[in-house]
Amino acid sequence: GNEEDAAKAAAATADSGASTIFDKIINKEIPSTIVYEDDKVLAFRDVNPQAPVHVLVIPKLRDGLTQLGKAEERHGNILGRLMYAAKIVAEKEGILDGFRVVINNGPGACQSVYHLHLHVLGGRQMKWPPG
Ligand code: 5GP
Repeated sequence: GNEEDAAKAAAATADSGASTIFDKIINKEIPSTIVYEDDKVLAFRDVNPQAPVHVLVIPKLRDGLTQLGKAEERHGNILGRLMYAAKIVAEKEGILDGFRVVINNGPGACQSVYHLHLHVLGGRQMKWPPG
């Protein structure tokens, strides 16, 4: 049934600690449309956008942050940088009056890439609750 399929899909995407496709994006081995970049943070358009604006904000150095649930106190600085970068992206994209920042953590939230990332979504009326 559907629940069984969902459980299988979730099990297939648990955190393995392996490097991810985002490393290739950071290294520019595979192309992406970059919206913002600084020494610590990269922001690029999601390949499968869920809103007119859908940008992923990631740390250039994963440093153990496969998912938010692995965060430690020492990550405070980069976590703050990511959040601030999300605001810069929203500003650049002209969606400051209505945008959403999402972090999917783990199989139960359908996380599929185990390199921490903020989704910045906007450009349409966002609904609540999310799915
Ligand atoms: P998650 O499901 O882990 O919260 O989000 C992962 C996101 O990465 C998805 O929205 C997916 O569309 C996006 N993504 C996966 N592979 C690529 C890629 O190669 N390039 C880009 N730009 N986005 C990707």
